[in-house]
Amino acid sequence: MNKYIEKVLKDVQAKNAGEPEFLQAVDEVLTTLSPVIDANKSYEANAILERMVEPERVVMFRVPWVDDKGIVRVNRGYRIQMNSAIGPYKGGLRFDPSVNLSVLKFLAFEQVFKNSLTTLPMGGGKGGSDFNPKQSPHTPGKRCSDGEVMRFCQSFMTELYRHIGPDTDVPAGDMNVGGREIGYLFGQYKRLANEWTGVLTGKGLSFGGSLIRPEATGYGDVYFAENMLAMRGETFEGKRCVISGSGNVASFAAQKLMQLGAKVLTLSDRSGAILVEGGLTEKMLNDIMVLKNVKRGELSEFAKKTKAVKFFKGVNSWQLTDKVDAAFPCARQNELDGKDAEYLLKHGCQVVAEGANMPSTPDAIAAFVKAKIMYSPGKASNAGGVATSGLEMSQNSERLSWTAEEVDAKLKGIMKSIHDNAWEAAAKYGHKGNYVMGANIAGFVKVADAMVAQGVC
Ligand code: NAP
Repeated sequence: MNKYIEKVLKDVQAKNAGEPEFLQAVDEVLTTLSPVIDANKSYEANAILERMVEPERVVMFRVPWVDDKGIVRVNRGYRIQMNSAIGPYKGGLRFDPSVNLSVLKFLAFEQVFKNSLTTLPMGGGKGGSDFNPKQSPHTPGKRCSDGEVMRFCQSFMTELYRHIGPDTDVPAGDMNVGGREIGYLFGQYKRLANEWTGVLTGKGLSFGGSLIRPEATGYGDVYFAENMLAMRGETFEGKRCVISGSGNVASFAAQKLMQLGAKVLTLSDRSGAILVEGGLTEKMLNDIMVLKNVKRGELSEFAKKTKAVKFFKGVNSWQLTDKVDAAFPCARQNELDGKDAEYLLKHGCQVVAEGANMPSTPDAIAAFVKAKIMYSPGKASNAGGVATSGLEMSQNSERLSWTAEEVDAKLKGIMKSIHDNAWEAAAKYGHKGNYVMGANIAGFVKVADAMVAQGVC
């Protein structure tokens, strides 16, 4: 490995010792950059790597709110403004008890490269809170009420609004932050700032949202995989696919795969995973979407009501069936490990297209790369969401709404560009077909060149 990269990695490890997810993300990117760092000495001379691993700004704040019983609760809120070299900070908000500085710094770091790959002018950021909308603070086994979620969102935005703006930082949704939460956050921003601007993306259609934004990450993931298959002259027709998660990304990946003639065999959530050997039907998927988004229930409940569905408690989707063509990890970080990768490879898997951020562990990634299957890292294949957020920002600025067909066509075009750029960057540096190297290098070069041009800042 390049000596400069080795030195930066050592320094990052020493400085951020208690942040395993962040260190994992930095290691995953930096260890692939040797060819491009070797070829361009100005990156070292300008301390580009040292600057890229240090957030431009971290905001951490108290979020006090009152629950339905009148009890005052306190959560912690964050916004990581990682890099604004190529545009305003852009990246989602995650509400989950697992949220901490390490998780958000890893997500913000990934976002910088992902946003660069989209070809749109967006810097990288991420934020959220350890607030858990899925567990009421006063009644075990119950979710927070809509009123509690609203009061939490209003308090969260009461601090966050000072740090964001349509030309500064434009947050979106992520895990547990969907249309409901974005609506509450937007309402409070508008009230505090006394202006209507496209300061959040993923908004409702009646107040500046874009058609296809909810679908975009899952659809984009499948479009990316379609491009990988096309390089080998194949399509999704008849392919056996396993998906993890059953939230936003997973459900729309499933929908698009089914539209393309694939069989979707599995989905999962915190309760476990479901297997439908004959493939999910459209009706089953619709019922699951209602269960997850409206009733906010668990897949275990769905399995009880549907005969053709087998439920496996507390496990993920990877080792449930013995013939797999393609896998789509769409739930969370580090959810597919070396053993899962081994199982998938042994049972025929030729495509892994990550919908989640960093879902494969380092040993799983190494196994996929070694086997030379079509493996795409999340920063490339899940970039369709943020790309469509970029399209929502354009529509808000123009005060126009594009049709679903227009947005979908642009999304398809962007996913093809991301695929082709990653493919070409990998080939240029002697690693043809390695999408990990290709995505990291293509994402890095654009941001690094902008940072060099802008001087030491
Ligand atoms: P979501 O709608 O909240 O869905 C997350 C899914 O993962 C749910 O099915 C959830 O199960 C499951 N999950 C979460 N934590 C889990 C755990 N500890 N064990 C088992 N299952 C767990 O979130 P999303 O928006 O689809 O995001 C999924 C992933 O995609 C994340 O990595 C996110 O960063 C990434 N991503 C999202 C977007 C986007 O536009 N939304 C864009 C790019 C990347 P439950 O339903 O039981 O909670």
